[in-house]
Amino acid sequence: MAEPTVFERIVAREIPAEIVLETDTIIAFVDIAPKAPMHVLVVPKTARYRDVVELAAGDPALLAEMVQAAQAIARERAAGDFRLVFNTGELAGQTVFHAHAHVLAGSLGEESLA
Ligand code: 5GP
Repeated sequence: MAEPTVFERIVAREIPAEIVLETDTIIAFVDIAPKAPMHVLVVPKTARYRDVVELAAGDPALLAEMVQAAQAIARERAAGDFRLVFNTGELAGQTVFHAHAHVLAGSLGEESLA
């Protein structure tokens, strides 16, 4: 079996994280290296999708749930507007190959893309 991703280890509570939202299917927690005043990762609990392209093809309802969660989190923890970033592929900066959305809010400069 493949090594669990860091996000699966957070779901399993093997690694601590500041969890801000959790449902049966997704978990959201504060990024360990925030790039904006609010920087939360929204992650499907399943690790079967390595990036957003696979996720959109395999389970679009789950992707829609992540977008709804991002809005709820931005309304609760920031002014409501937010930026959603899906780094897709190593050359685009993806480091964890378990689909996830970066939810960024606060004072966002151009340099603050995750
Ligand atoms: P990627 O570069 O794959 O789009 O995003 C991975 C994100 O996961 C990075 O922003 C990184 O800071 C975050 N990250 C990596 N390991 C951990 C961890 O153990 N805890 C938390 N909270 N975030 C992590």
